[in-house]
Amino acid sequence: MKNVKDSLGIYFYKFTAMQLKSKILILGAIITLLALTAIQGYLIYNTYELKKSAFTIDARNAIAVIYGQKQVDSLMWDYRNDFLKQLESYKKGQITKPQVLENLKEKVEPINVLFNDFYNEEIKKNNLKADIKCKIIVTQIQIVDSLGLKTDFVQKDNNIFLLGENFDSTEAILINNSTWQQDHDFINEGNPDAFGLNFKTSIYMNILNWKQNVLKVMAGLLFISVLLFIFVLSLLYYSIYNLLKQKKLAEIKTDFINNITHELKTPLSTLAIATKTLTNRFAQDDKAIAEDTIKTINRQNRRLQNIVDEFLSNSVSSEDIKLNEEEFFPYNFLNNLVEDFKMSSATDIEFIKNIEKNEVSILADKFYLGTALLNILNNAVKYGGKKIEFTYIFDKESRLHIIYIKDNGIGMSSKYKKQIFEKFYRISEKDRHNYKGLGLGLYYSNQIIKVHKGELSVKSKIKEGSTFIIKIPTQQP
Ligand code: ADP
Repeated sequence: MKNVKDSLGIYFYKFTAMQLKSKILILGAIITLLALTAIQGYLIYNTYELKKSAFTIDARNAIAVIYGQKQVDSLMWDYRNDFLKQLESYKKGQITKPQVLENLKEKVEPINVLFNDFYNEEIKKNNLKADIKCKIIVTQIQIVDSLGLKTDFVQKDNNIFLLGENFDSTEAILINNSTWQQDHDFINEGNPDAFGLNFKTSIYMNILNWKQNVLKVMAGLLFISVLLFIFVLSLLYYSIYNLLKQKKLAEIKTDFINNITHELKTPLSTLAIATKTLTNRFAQDDKAIAEDTIKTINRQNRRLQNIVDEFLSNSVSSEDIKLNEEEFFPYNFLNNLVEDFKMSSATDIEFIKNIEKNEVSILADKFYLGTALLNILNNAVKYGGKKIEFTYIFDKESRLHIIYIKDNGIGMSSKYKKQIFEKFYRISEKDRHNYKGLGLGLYYSNQIIKVHKGELSVKSKIKEGSTFIIKIPTQQP
């Protein structure tokens, strides 16, 4: 036994080391994926910014080329000459400041039609695949007379629109600022007069669908990135899923080894003592001791046989269960089953039977169905049930035979209500170490109910007890 213990110790040590390793592995993989995602996101963002600025530079260059053309120059001078005349009139006191600006706007209006026509024609030639608008606004108009006196017509905070399309400046990109500076001489009431002009303008552009354009250019890259991301994520998911599955299997294996050693330990050590007694000369001479010891050997032998039998018979899956079905009314069958069980159980256990007598038949294998119900009844007693309620009804609406086996034993947390039907699964909580078993009973019962096209479930509460519910459909029309 010591050897088994030692090898188990090594096994557990390896197992916990493996658990730690798999945790580190999962964490490492998740961190790597997050880092890769962040790097990829950063690269995509950078590419986006790069494409955006390349696109903006292209658009800016195209506009600069248009503005550099002599047609635009001559359109500018068209209003500029007139504007100087307006300023002369202002200096002569013939018009007011607002009138100067009003006249400028009036003069520019027909020029703007020509300007826009020219601009639209030219911008098309660049084939930029985006709607690029541009405008010129006046940010300052100031004149300085010969005495250095300054007069402002337009200041920074009250810009006026001059040429192009009048879009909102907040979402526009500033292309450049330029200043038209001019010293202008004229004759004022017969005397020479002069003023210096500061006429500052800003050119703005607005690319209406640049985001779509940049994204269109990046579509291939984005698509491959998303695809790769999904691929890596699925790979990671699959690996983690497999790792957890392996981990669970390893856990089940450990539990099983643990349980079976525990189960075999008592009969094996009793057999060892019995053999020792028989080999003892004194015992050989004493018939009573010898007979007693042989009885013990037989008992322990039977116990070992039962454990092996339980393992062999209860570990088969639903595919290996070959039913020998017959059609019968459940009343007598269930009544006898509960009565027989009652007889074999301790007397301090109270049984309550509610078995409905009806004319609805069930198609089932009596041996297997009986085994499934007895496993559940045995558990009800094993896990502390002192009062066991066995109820059977036929539900007309769902056409199901329903059996409830209720106990007032130790119960269980609802988080285990699926796992307890898995092969070798045992709830390994601290207060359950004294309950022996291999974790096969409910697995086997569930397999049996499944081959009867039925369903086995549980409702339970810790310290209050459990109710196992078996539902089997009737074949009767
Ligand atoms: P075993 O009883 O050999 O452990 P089972 O498959 O019969 O295996 O049961 C699986 C687990 O479900 C048990 O380990 C036990 O913790 C829990 N269980 C089963 N029946 C009951 C019950 N009536 N009350 C409380 N817990 C139960």
